[in-house]
Amino acid sequence: MTEIIVQKFGGTSVGTVERIDAVAEIIKDASKSNNIVVVVSAMEGETNKLVGLANHFSQSPDKREFDALVSTGETVSSALLAIALHAKGINAKSYSASQISMKTTDSYSKAKILDIDANKIMEVVGQNTIPIITGFQGITETGDITTLGRGGSDTTAVAIAAQIGAKRCDIYTDVDGVFTTDPKVVPNAKKLDSITMEEMLELAGQGAKVMQTRAVEFANKYKVPVRVLSSFDEGDGTLISLKDDGMENALISGIAFQKDQVKFTLHGVGDIPGTAFKILGPISEKDIEVDVIVQNVSVDGKTDFTFTVSKDDESDVKDIIEEIKTEVEFKDLMINSDIAKVSLVGVGMRTHAGIASKAFKALSENDVNIQIISTSEIKITMVIDKSLVEKAVQVLHEEFELDK
Ligand code: ADP
Ligand code: ASP
Ligand code: MG
Repeated sequence: MTEIIVQKFGGTSVGTVERIDAVAEIIKDASKSNNIVVVVSAMEGETNKLVGLANHFSQSPDKREFDALVSTGETVSSALLAIALHAKGINAKSYSASQISMKTTDSYSKAKILDIDANKIMEVVGQNTIPIITGFQGITETGDITTLGRGGSDTTAVAIAAQIGAKRCDIYTDVDGVFTTDPKVVPNAKKLDSITMEEMLELAGQGAKVMQTRAVEFANKYKVPVRVLSSFDEGDGTLISLKDDGMENALISGIAFQKDQVKFTLHGVGDIPGTAFKILGPISEKDIEVDVIVQNVSVDGKTDFTFTVSKDDESDVKDIIEEIKTEVEFKDLMINSDIAKVSLVGVGMRTHAGIASKAFKALSENDVNIQIISTSEIKITMVIDKSLVEKAVQVLHEEFELDK
């Protein structure tokens, strides 16, 4: 039997009717040699427009209704792409999350995929028809509509590829592949022919929005080969490789950055066992991801406890801190949204010392003050002032000669 390839098309790729026509050509072409299953995002700008409509009435709209609203962009693009394929004589049918029983948790706007009806998808493929599935959407056990978080169509695509045992998942986007950093910030950033899954996980997790982090997690867990490539220009893109042969590991593979961050500092908390848990426990219970965490050396039994979260979670975290006030004593709460994270990622860091000091030196020579540093085996993350993020990325890209 012919193998299956899942093709995912992002918002820019289907941003206009002309683009939808171009994408239909790519699908038509690929369907000559493989069975194709398509996952599609909303047309460019649509999801933001829907978010804006909700925000006209409330900054924190009802979560259920918000997801029901913002998921509709994908409904439009999937049906429209099917119509475009029909015009080219190709059999295609659009499917929503509920039609393929894409079950998720009920964590609105950050729902996690639990199950997908692979049989349904395979039945359509068996009828010589290309399923055009809405990305980003899911449904709860009780049938309410959820969404998977911004950029979530990547996750839909990889999860479907895993579930139907696809040969590969191709993520079509508006750049030629995964670059050493965002080519919109560093124009001479270099396209990578391949990158290890581990590095891609860190880059995505630290803000390289070319793929949603959950999508890379799925690919890693279910061993789905993924390729990131352009729907605008021909090329082989970047292969996210499942094996790390360790042969030519770059010292630094890439630089990621993230601006939509907020720093919370609880000043003057008691340096006693259980404090970190009392603060972070209720936050993680709400599925809020805490990123950089720092606790300072205590003076007279008091310390500062700092952590960063996504801007989207700011008001929820504020509410939680308000609630735990009675259990965790602190002097004041400081909230700073003028921050950004810059991260260097590379498996070569495991075997090379001195990368951190080289990065710190380069930033200090360019007057970029580092507020917090956090490291892992293959990553160094620095929290800096938001206004300096582009400069910091350019300086580090140059310092580590990533364009070479
Ligand atoms: P899509 O709509 O196709 O899902 P996204 O806008 O979500 O596309 O992701 C693609 C964008 O990711 C690129 O246009 C680029 O600006 C950005 N990006 C950030 N970091 C990188 C990187 N390291 N390599 C490639 N693109 C990156
Ligand atoms: N349309 C959604 C978004 O803009 C999902 C996606 O594009 O992946 O975030
Ligand atoms: Mg995306």
